[in-house]
Amino acid sequence: MNQILLDNYQVRKTYECPSCGGFGVLPGPDWESFRMERSVDENLEATDYFRARGYESPPPEEVRCDRCQGEGILSEFVPFQEAIQAWRHQRRVRLLNLLSGVATVLQEAGLDDEDFKPLLTALLRLVGGDES
Ligand SMILES: [Zn+2]
Repeated sequence: MNQILLDNYQVRKTYECPSCGGFGVLPGPDWESFRMERSVDENLEATDYFRARGYESPPPEEVRCDRCQGEGILSEFVPFQEAIQAWRHQRRVRLLNLLSGVATVLQEAGLDDEDFKPLLTALLRLVGGDES
């Protein structure tokens, strides 16, 4: 492919928001500390707890994640070549996992005779497993 042409393209990459773990919301202010204290004192009332901290009433238990604007996912544009490399890497990892599974099946089935031994040896070398 023409490198100069490829440099003109970018791909939109989406991924789970690391701040909220994809939920789009975060615990409201002071709710985590309330829950921690509640785990020690089960009679602790939210109304009393938050009033003692200056709240008129308990704040919302969840607030929208500012980083992803509540969407749970983020996106950014990456160079086309970078996207292709990531895709190839992902396919390679999936294939190695699949082959690792095949090696495990061969081992568990005791298929390490003359017919399968070369395949098993090659698979184990490829997936980095122990041949023993
Ligand atoms: Zn988020």
